[in-house]
This record gives sequence, structure tokens and C-alpha cells, in this order.
Amino acid sequence: MSRDVGGADPQKTLRIGPFTLRNRMIFPAHLTNFSSGGTITEQHIAYYEARARGGAAMIITEEHTVHPSDRPYEKLIRGWDPAVLPGYRRLTDTVHRHGTRILAQLNHNGAQGSSMYTGRPLWSPGTDPDPLFREVPMAIGEPEIAELVDGYSDVARRCIDGGFDGVEIQCSQASILRAFLASGTNPRTDLYGGDLHGRARLLLEVVARVRAEIGPDHVVGVRLSGYDGTDGGIDVDDAVQVARMLETTGHIDYLNTSVGVATETLHLIEAPMSTPHGYSLFVPSTIRAAVSLPVVGVGRFTRPDQVRAALSDGVCDLVGAVRAQIADPEFAGKVLSGLDDEVRPCIGCNQECIGRVGLGRWIGCTVNPRAGRESVLLPEVRSPGRRVLVVGGGPAGLQAAATAAHRGHVVTLCEREASLGGQVRGAATAPHRAELLSMVTSLEAECLRAGVEIRTGIDVVIAVVEELRPDAVIVATGARPLRPAWAGESQRVVDVRDVLEGRAEPSGRILVVDDLGFHEATSVAELLADRGCDVTVCTPGMIVGQDLGLTLDMDGWLRRAHEKGIGMVPDVAVAGLVVRDNSLHVSLVHHPTGKTRVLTVDGVVVATHQAPVDELWTALSESGICVSRVGDAVAPRRAHAAILEGDRAALELGV
Ligand code: SF4
Repeated sequence: MSRDVGGADPQKTLRIGPFTLRNRMIFPAHLTNFSSGGTITEQHIAYYEARARGGAAMIITEEHTVHPSDRPYEKLIRGWDPAVLPGYRRLTDTVHRHGTRILAQLNHNGAQGSSMYTGRPLWSPGTDPDPLFREVPMAIGEPEIAELVDGYSDVARRCIDGGFDGVEIQCSQASILRAFLASGTNPRTDLYGGDLHGRARLLLEVVARVRAEIGPDHVVGVRLSGYDGTDGGIDVDDAVQVARMLETTGHIDYLNTSVGVATETLHLIEAPMSTPHGYSLFVPSTIRAAVSLPVVGVGRFTRPDQVRAALSDGVCDLVGAVRAQIADPEFAGKVLSGLDDEVRPCIGCNQECIGRVGLGRWIGCTVNPRAGRESVLLPEVRSPGRRVLVVGGGPAGLQAAATAAHRGHVVTLCEREASLGGQVRGAATAPHRAELLSMVTSLEAECLRAGVEIRTGIDVVIAVVEELRPDAVIVATGARPLRPAWAGESQRVVDVRDVLEGRAEPSGRILVVDDLGFHEATSVAELLADRGCDVTVCTPGMIVGQDLGLTLDMDGWLRRAHEKGIGMVPDVAVAGLVVRDNSLHVSLVHHPTGKTRVLTVDGVVVATHQAPVDELWTALSESGICVSRVGDAVAPRRAHAAILEGDRAALELGV
């Protein structure tokens, strides 16, 4: 086993075990929630096929559990069930047709789960509950350990019978093997506890049994946590020692890496937009320096230059990019072809990938409306060349224009403002939110490549439409802020958009009212705190920015809010406002108790619901012109809905 060393670039092939990978980019394991009845579905097959067709050298599927005691979520692939075999074969045949290798990840989640689905106790090295699931597990004995090792071996065999090129053994984010490895979760005093060698015993036994079962003609890899970020968790020194132990066995062909634990430090795994690129590369580079096995680096690779730098700097031998390939299934191929400007980049929003999966729904993507829907056939265009007018250059309008142009229509997009982007442009001015803008710039570039005529600074009224005489109009005119009744006429009560879009510059003591529970209020609070304001955020919710937990932004927000001295008042509704002595006196009702307190401030910024800008839609609807409307012009929501509806409306043209 040797590694192709030095100065790698994405095009270079790489030998891992018995196979040669065609390039250096892989699509690593991640949950999709596509499974039905514990088996592979057509949704899986189409999703993975799109990334294989897009150029990925190797796909590692999401975890296949190795034992019935493990079912932390509903849609887990049950590798122990022979019913999985037909789906395995359909999936692997499909992926292989594109020259892509495919491995199955094997796992048991241990205590990082719930007994809700199985009705059986969780398995763990000890009895400490996971901090997120808070369920006390049973400490497994030698009979269960033997069953577990058999499970890995049996499922590895089934995967090979199903056409997989090999398996990856998870010893990372959510794994009983990682729990055995870490001193903080392994209190055992038997052969499987004690020092690192004892704690690694189970992993090494599993590796040996799996290799013995599937032989030398298939790949065996291990995904190893390099930094758990928890008390008593694995750190990079532990990981280096374990990597050396694994290499010494001679049983494995590559090492994959990870940071974070799927429950307590999940924000380190699918790091949100506020996390710097390259934050986790110290793990693969340290491990790579210590072993000669090929090493995979992961962690927020969203642009081709980051891939090239990691490879040429010797950080890793293979780049594992999950979200980059969810956002753009052709990411790998574009990197190989140098089509950097054509990548639709992942923006690190986590809204439709981890955010949806965390709610038990199948994976999607804010910027890629087809992610998770690859198995849905697109309607045929029977009459291309229709003249389409798109009104509004936010995400909905841009996506509608791009899709319509790709489908062979002649598209003009008109935007009232001087620049495109709608609300995204303002939102991207907030601290740690700048990457939002690439949603707009990449769509704009795509529109131009597809031949869309873009006109800015034009206010489209019905007379303009009648003059342009399009065959169809798509109205994407967005939304306008609603002013709460309690705000009265005070000029010192403004909307978050007024601040983010530069129309208002409040100063002094500022109350931010968070009615939306997402980035709007927290963004403006940070922006104003950075400008020297004394900021308090109030909300009727139990916590400010309550949806930030879903996108893994909560930890970062709370840490930064603390550092910036931002105060928070939960469980209150604004009941009224009085202007007196040059100050605003805001009454806040604590809704669980009905008690009122008054906060005296110099200004109020409101993050509240909006209303559709639908005058053009209404006028056109009554004119007999073929018209549809999308995004916030229908009902103000988040960016994913705008992009999805823009795509849908354009797909329906000319069919
Ligand atoms: Fe990236 Fe956001 Fe898409 Fe997830 S939903 S893949 S974070 S752009």
C-alpha cells in the first residue's frame, strides 16, 4: 500500500487498494433520508448517479447500520437486512456506468441515538448518556461485542455481493467505535478499555474481520475522527496514534477524516457559513504526515481553488466535498475542466441539507432546486423559443430566467434596482453572511451564459409589459416589510431591511425585535453591535433566533453575541411604544406571566413578516397576458422557496 505523493492536482489518478481512482475528488458519506423500509430507493440512485456523472471519482454512501439495535432515525439503511441487496445492485450498477467507484459506509451509532424506533436499549461502551439524546445506554458485554463484530463482517459481505467496491468503517461523528476510542465515553476496565490501545481494540477487531471477510480485491477504509471538540473526546494526537495502528495492520487502503461529534459538536461537522474555510484541514495534514496511507481531507470545500490548494499543499491525497456536490452535482467535473466560474457554489447556509435532514425530511439544497429531486423527470419542452419576461432580479427571478433560458426560451429579466439580488444583497452585508451573495452572482453569471438579457433600473408596470409583448411573464417582485401597528409614526422604528440595505443607521441603545427566529434579527444585532451600539434582542420565542439550531448557526451566534455584549430577552411580545424625553419606551409583555416591563432605548429595529409586492401580478392577471408569480411575490418565505418556485415556473413554460 503506498500513497501517490507530492504536488497532487485534481486530475491525478490515485491508487487505493486494488483500484485506481480517476481523479482526486470524492463524494463522502452523509445522511440523505431517502431510504424507505431500510432499503435503497430510486431517489438514492438518481442522486448518487448525478454526482457520478458530474465527475466524482468515488462515492461513499451514507451509513448502513450493521445491527438491529441501532436505529437513531427513521430512514436509516438497514445493512443487516438481506432485503437491501436488490437496491444495492441497482445503485452500484448505475454508479459504475459512469466510471465512479462506490463504497458503503458501515456503522453502529451506539449511544448517539434513541430507542424510540427499536424499543431496545442503546449500546455503548459505558452508561453515560449522549448530551443531545440524553438516554442512558447499556454498557455492552462480550456477547454484544461479538455480535457487533459479526454485524460489520456480515454487512461488509452483503455490500460486496451487492456490487460495492468496498466499505468504509465509520469511527467518527456518530459511531460506537469512536465512543470506544475516546476516553470520555469509554470507562471500561476490561480488554476494550484502559489506554488507547485497549480502547482501539474493538476498531482493530472490526477492521481485521471485515478484511478477512471481503479479501484483498476490495477496498477497506476507515473514517477516523481527528478532533471531537468534547471533554475526553479524540484529539489529533490520539488520531495519529490510531492511524498508525491501523496502518500497521496492513488491512486498510485509505483513511478518511472528520472533526466534531454528530450530537454535541455537530456544528463542527457541517460547519455553517460563519466557519472559515479550511478550519478542519489540520486533521488530514497531521495524519498524512504520520502515515503513508492515502488520506481524505474534508471540511467546507466550496470553491475549486480550495480543492487545488489542499492537494498541491499536501494537506490530503483526496478531497471529500459533500455540500459542494449537493449544490452543484457537476462540481468535480468543473474543477477538472477549469470551469471555476461555472460552479454554483454551496453557500454554507445548511438550510435545506442538514436543516431538512434534521427534521426527518430528505436532503435538498437552497441553491440547487433539483437536489433530492433528481429522480423526478423534467417535463418535455414542446414549444421552445417563447419570449419570456421575468420581472424581479432576486433569487426567484434569476432562477426562473436561468431555467427558462436553458429550456430554449428567449428571456428578458428586468430589475427595478440598479443591481440584482433582492433582499440577499442586503442580508450579505451582515457579519459572517457575505457568502450569501454568491447565490446571486453565480445565478447572474449563469443567466448571462444562457443568453438572458438583463435590464436593471427598470420599473416594470403593465404598460412596459404591453410594449415588450412577451408570450409569458414570470412575476418575481419580492416582498415589502410590514410595519407593526405598535410602531406608530416614529422614524426611529425601522425594519431590518432598512439597516441592512443602508437606508437607516440607528445608534445608541437599540432594541431589535425578532419575530422571525432566523438570521434577520441576529444579523442586524451583530452589525449594530460591531458599529458600537448597545444592542438588546427580544423575541416572543423561547430563544432568540430559534431556527438557528437547525442550521447549526446557534453555537456561533450565542458565542459571538456574548463576546459583543448583545442582550437577549425571550418570551416577550411588544405591547406598545411611547416617545418621551427623546427616548423610546417600549413595553414588553412576558407572555407566560402577563407581566410588563419597559425598555428605554434610542431606536428599534424590527425583524417581522413581510407582504407580497403583487400589484403587477394583479394587473397582469386581469389583462389576459399569460402570467405566473413566484417566491416572495406569492408569499414571503426564505430563499430556498424562491429558487424552487422560480425553477418550477420556468419548467412549466412551453410544455
Ligand atoms: Fe450548501 Fe446551503 Fe445547499 Fe446545504 S443547502 S448544500 S449549505 S447551499
